[in-house]
Amino acid sequence: VRQGLERELQQLDGAPYGRYRGLTGQWELGGGVVLEVVRGQADPYAPPARVAVRVPGERAGFPRELWDSPVRRRALAGYLVREAAREVSAERALQVDAGGQEVLDRNSCTVDAGDGAVTLRLGVALPGPHRRIDGRAARRLLCEVLPEVAERALCLAALDGGRVREFVAAVEDSAALRAALPGLGLVGFVADGASLPRRSGADDRPARGEGVVAFRSPEELRVSVELPHAGVVSGMGIPEGVTLIVGGGFHGKSTLLRALETGVWDHVPGDGRELAVSLADTVKIRAEDGRPVERVDVHAFVDHLPGGADTTDFSTANASGSTSQAASLCEAVESGARVLLIDEDTAATNLMIRDARMQALVAKEREPLTPLVDSVRSLHRDHGVSTVLVMGGSGDYLEVADRVVMMDAYRPYDVTGRAREIAAVPTGRRAEADSFPSLVARRVDPASVDSTAKGRTRVRARGTDYLVFGEHDIDLRAVAPLADASHVTGIGLALELLVRHGHLTRDRTLAEALDLLDTDFTTADPVAALRTVHDDDFAVPRRHEIAAALNRLRGMRVVR
Ligand code: ADP
Ligand code: MG
Repeated sequence: VRQGLERELQQLDGAPYGRYRGLTGQWELGGGVVLEVVRGQADPYAPPARVAVRVPGERAGFPRELWDSPVRRRALAGYLVREAAREVSAERALQVDAGGQEVLDRNSCTVDAGDGAVTLRLGVALPGPHRRIDGRAARRLLCEVLPEVAERALCLAALDGGRVREFVAAVEDSAALRAALPGLGLVGFVADGASLPRRSGADDRPARGEGVVAFRSPEELRVSVELPHAGVVSGMGIPEGVTLIVGGGFHGKSTLLRALETGVWDHVPGDGRELAVSLADTVKIRAEDGRPVERVDVHAFVDHLPGGADTTDFSTANASGSTSQAASLCEAVESGARVLLIDEDTAATNLMIRDARMQALVAKEREPLTPLVDSVRSLHRDHGVSTVLVMGGSGDYLEVADRVVMMDAYRPYDVTGRAREIAAVPTGRRAEADSFPSLVARRVDPASVDSTAKGRTRVRARGTDYLVFGEHDIDLRAVAPLADASHVTGIGLALELLVRHGHLTRDRTLAEALDLLDTDFTTADPVAALRTVHDDDFAVPRRHEIAAALNRLRGMRVVR
């Protein structure tokens, strides 16, 4: 650790911009706070320098019970990084990746498991008008602003201790609720009083105003759960099996489903969805015409194609709506999804339903597709995969649903009984499958998952729409949930780690490779593991997003 950063910057004043690179390394900032310039900045227009500010545990001063578990460390870091982002909001040269409504493991802030030290990692655009080092401005940023941020945002002494505890407690409750679901036979839970609607499609903060209807469970589905901090909470439990959400248009069906989709994450206090959770292995499935499909066993849904192709081994560079959704569903089952979420708004109708009249008109021999309605029960019974489905436009699912929830003016009602009565009247429809088959597991050629471009590792997010991975742009527009660009970067880094750690091999199934990465992530610090690929802003993804990106990587090859 070097001393004298101030003096160094004074001396560099007016020097060519490139000499900033000499700052790389660790510098003592006083009081034990260490500033590390991880990566310099080549010129004023290049990506900002990467800087880490580390505050020792004693100095940060957080009691052990705020950081003695992975969940608590994630929560504490999540609180601190938001404070830090607020502190630097007026400094355009400083970029802190605080994240939005969800509290993810992020590289931007971490708490050391051993001693509670806090590290903030950020981008610093080093000042250099006319490609000359502005030593004074750099000194102000690095030697005045950053130590002040450390003091005011990363040390308990300057913070509202009550709010810190509240934040950590809220995240811990949410995580505990999610962990309690399997024991209760549930795949999701939405607490009474939760507020689900968002401000807009582009703004994930909670909607405000008098029109917002607080969530209230129907009696039949009400479940009580005891949480470590909030005590006993009640809400709507979504049981394992097949759950149908019906109701008129604009009555809040998709909003409820989206709450389950993002229920794999914990949310910040005040979000409204703090206690709206779903199993960690919940995946949203949708149609996505145009996506590539590489040797996926889709015969559960697609068979007898006009060309006679083997649909246990189905590939295309340009899937249709129905085949894309079939592939995504089979891939989700392959990567270990336990809950599938499907919204009629984004589903391919012909994969979902084929009613009695269409069966009468188009013979089964002429229709390659088997609709999900005929295998969704078996998916749960034989494979343990539950489904939550929004379907306001077709009654065929009434017959196969274990539970039917009707949304009416944003209020859920249990209409299962009435749905059974209606379903008891035959429509003349015949089932086209009696079970969901076991799928062929794929093995991926690791050589085809190549992150190099121009001789270097290239992993970068383009917003939440694309992941730049080596020479490829992976289209993630239909993958959900995605939190933000940092989350997308994390997916790319995890993909690279899957290869680097040797998990992805020609003789391991994709699911086995993902299991090994999961083990890495639970036995060691996942943020530190991903950072070995590249120290940049990222959030830690789940296995399902990693698999989703891999499945959309054009060039990925499956070996059989
Ligand atoms: P559906 O899928 O049934 O057509 P949406 O879930 O898309 O309906 O919701 C329709 C509109 O109602 C959206 O603008 C949404 O933000 C809003 N909304 C959803 N739930 C609530 C609620 N609990 N209170 C107020 N507005 C809501
Ligand atoms: Mg909808």
